[in-house]
Amino acid sequence: MDNTEMVSKNFIEQIIDKDLEEGKYDTICTRFPPEPNGYLHIGHAKSILLNYGLSQEYNGQFNLRFDDTNPTKEKTEFVDSIKADVAWLGADWKDHLYFASDYFDQMYEGAVKLIKKGKAFVCDLTAEEIRAYRGTLTEPGKESPYRNRSIEENLDLFERMKNGEFPDGSKVLRAKIDMASPNINMRDPVIYRVARFHHHNTGDKWCIYPMYDFAHPIEDAIEGVTHSICTLEFEDHRPLYDWVVRELEYVHPPKQIEFAKLYLTNVITGKRYIKKLVEENIVDGWDDPRLVSIAALRRRGFTPESIQMFVKLCGVSKANSSVDYAMLEYCIREDLKMKRPRMMAVLDPIKLVIDNYPEDQTEILDVANNLENEEMGSRKVPFGRELYIEREDFMEVPPRKYFRLFPGNEVRLMHAYFVKCTGFEKDENGNVTVVHATYDPETKAGSGFNGRKVKGTIHWVPAKEAVSAEVRLYENLVDEEKGVYNEDGSLNLNPNSRTILKDCKLEPSFGDAKPYDSYQFVRSGYYCVDAKDSRPDALVFNRIVSMKSSFKLPKPE
Ligand code: ATP
Ligand code: MG
Repeated sequence: MDNTEMVSKNFIEQIIDKDLEEGKYDTICTRFPPEPNGYLHIGHAKSILLNYGLSQEYNGQFNLRFDDTNPTKEKTEFVDSIKADVAWLGADWKDHLYFASDYFDQMYEGAVKLIKKGKAFVCDLTAEEIRAYRGTLTEPGKESPYRNRSIEENLDLFERMKNGEFPDGSKVLRAKIDMASPNINMRDPVIYRVARFHHHNTGDKWCIYPMYDFAHPIEDAIEGVTHSICTLEFEDHRPLYDWVVRELEYVHPPKQIEFAKLYLTNVITGKRYIKKLVEENIVDGWDDPRLVSIAALRRRGFTPESIQMFVKLCGVSKANSSVDYAMLEYCIREDLKMKRPRMMAVLDPIKLVIDNYPEDQTEILDVANNLENEEMGSRKVPFGRELYIEREDFMEVPPRKYFRLFPGNEVRLMHAYFVKCTGFEKDENGNVTVVHATYDPETKAGSGFNGRKVKGTIHWVPAKEAVSAEVRLYENLVDEEKGVYNEDGSLNLNPNSRTILKDCKLEPSFGDAKPYDSYQFVRSGYYCVDAKDSRPDALVFNRIVSMKSSFKLPKPE
């Protein structure tokens, strides 16, 4: 391997390279271990694509494992949504789909093994007492009076815990490690508790459940995971992870590696925070397009490719930092730029009548779908006497540097002719209702405009053939300027996070738009057919992202 390649590798790849070189592992296995207690979000996408990407890069294995050892908050609805989201992102677990709850027997056996080695004991202290005995960061903990129970007594009590002889919370199994350890996680942590929960997979078979720090390393070891990649908050738990796999004497123990979570500046990401927005009806469900859950991003019109690009740009690091949402927007624009047709849609329509154009005439114009990508072919757009244009493309009294329509001014109608504004009509409230113009037949698109030039070009749709649609515009859920929270801790919600435009006019080619189809609306942005609310005769579009951006790619380090 040459040097330049080494330098561009992230710290996890460097660890893997070293492990393979030293023969620690022959091949690698990574996993994504979601707890099925909510929908996945953009942060999880980072973890999924990182783990899956490494398995691909090293020709290894990738497991999708549901970490379903805490039955209180778990639901099968979440199992299904998580599978759909991981598959959509392109991370293929093949037949490596696992449930931690399938290992409950092995975890129980592991606990028995620890007891037999004198490394675990049944403790009768209450949760409160255990906390008080634990000590603090500066003071060592105190040993439990039950710590020196005999192996026989521990085996007997643990079995009876399993058999349901003790009430919930009355006894726990604890690892016997070191109450004076500077790392609080090592002070005889609880590894099993008595709790009568109905489990979505194992039903009522168990009334004792393992704790995360004990269960997770066992899950990894059973599956042959080599590199167990998690986020930074587990760094202090690593000694316990290593202790568990060592004491249980796994031949090829997995290795835990931590990386920094992905945060988006002023965007609500954490699962429990998104859950709160859903439960308090601040948004319309987990797939509300204003959220950054994977389901919401998909519905909004983001593509797996755009999220892959985003995650790649974010990189992998050990230092927590926050990424600008504009970078995600950059990625979706980049992804759709060459792939999607550029069509005309008028969001706030006003009529334009071309008075010198024959009343009963319609021309069918052949319009390129994407000028930067010829392969995308062309479509037909009818042109006639009556069109719709954007209300903001006409002004009765224009400010300086306004090059669009105003009385006496000439503009180019995209793909069609030059038109000159000759007048307008108003209703009784003074609102402009119709703009009048004349066209110059010598300036048809493709003709060279008869050598003439104008400063402004505007888009339009034919009035008679237009398709009506609802268009939903989105902004950040919280007010960017003020941040996510107010001083009193409440959410600083942006009242304009969703704007619904009811009677937008689109060119007729939109007639066959299907759920998840996305398009560039010229001069405006990228839009996607809403998969939930759109109907063939009542189209609904989500704005994915607007065209404008001041975002610049960060310089490579
Ligand atoms: P949240 O912090 O949003 O509640 P979680 O960590 O509780 O999420 P899990 O289902 O336990 O959610 O996580 C599954 C995996 O996803 C874990 O390995 C976790 O470290 C990783 N993960 C969660 N959030 C992020 C994030 N923001 N960035 C990167 N990885 C994440
Ligand atoms: Mg969690």
